[in-house]
Amino acid sequence: MRAYRLLAGLAIVAAFACPAWAQTVDRLYIMDCGHNAATDQSRWSPGVNVGKPIEFSDNCYLIRHGTEWLLWDTGFPDAVADRPTITPVGTATRAKKLAAQLAEIGVKPADIAYVAVSHTHGDHVGNVDMFPTSTLLIQKAEMDWAFAPGKTPPFAKDRPMRELSGDLDLFGDGSAAILSTPGHTPGHQSLLVHLPKTGWVVLTGDAAHFKDNWDNDRVPSINTDAAATHASRARLAEIVAEKKAQLWINHDLPTSQGQKHAPQFYD
Ligand SMILES: [Zn+2]
Repeated sequence: MRAYRLLAGLAIVAAFACPAWAQTVDRLYIMDCGHNAATDQSRWSPGVNVGKPIEFSDNCYLIRHGTEWLLWDTGFPDAVADRPTITPVGTATRAKKLAAQLAEIGVKPADIAYVAVSHTHGDHVGNVDMFPTSTLLIQKAEMDWAFAPGKTPPFAKDRPMRELSGDLDLFGDGSAAILSTPGHTPGHQSLLVHLPKTGWVVLTGDAAHFKDNWDNDRVPSINTDAAATHASRARLAEIVAEKKAQLWINHDLPTSQGQKHAPQFYD
């Protein structure tokens, strides 16, 4: 299985290395999709940094490719923005609604052709139902897991959807590739995008939650498969090295604080 994943990783690296084929998306907007905090970061790094508090960013990423829009992750539900802003540690907050950030740049939910989610935890799928006409791109393994009998469905299942079994070159030109990176959840996925000036960027999803965990390859206790987590990170690291890509860790607050957010964008 490990060898298979390695081969799959090398195949996609080889495919994206072809300059004649590799095109770019036009723009990438980072949207503020919430904030959370915890009193003990060792939940994400077992045995390490016990009792040390941590704060998390939660971003959504809106990508324009020609006339098409792709939204990567949807964050905490917009309703969280209506709650009081002073809350106990561990309660999510939202400074701005996703709907408001889309409106600010003149994009309506119906304009978004594709919504892809890294996985089905509530800080990533909170607004999926805001996009009932968009095609949802999600791994079949994630759907099977999230909609297993007895679990609370994370969003309405009756909607346009493409269930994936592995990687997807979304626009067919190498500019945006969904990468299967299981481990945090059974059908976790990441996104590789190519921008004209910024270059290659890997959007991790929760393949790692913050930089220290990525650097030391520490696996959160809540992950469904530790071995798969290590393999997925090895795969992403290989792609980052090959493409000289930037690694944008969604929940790493210092990374997020150093980035441009909508209405500014990366091109
Ligand atoms: Zn998350």
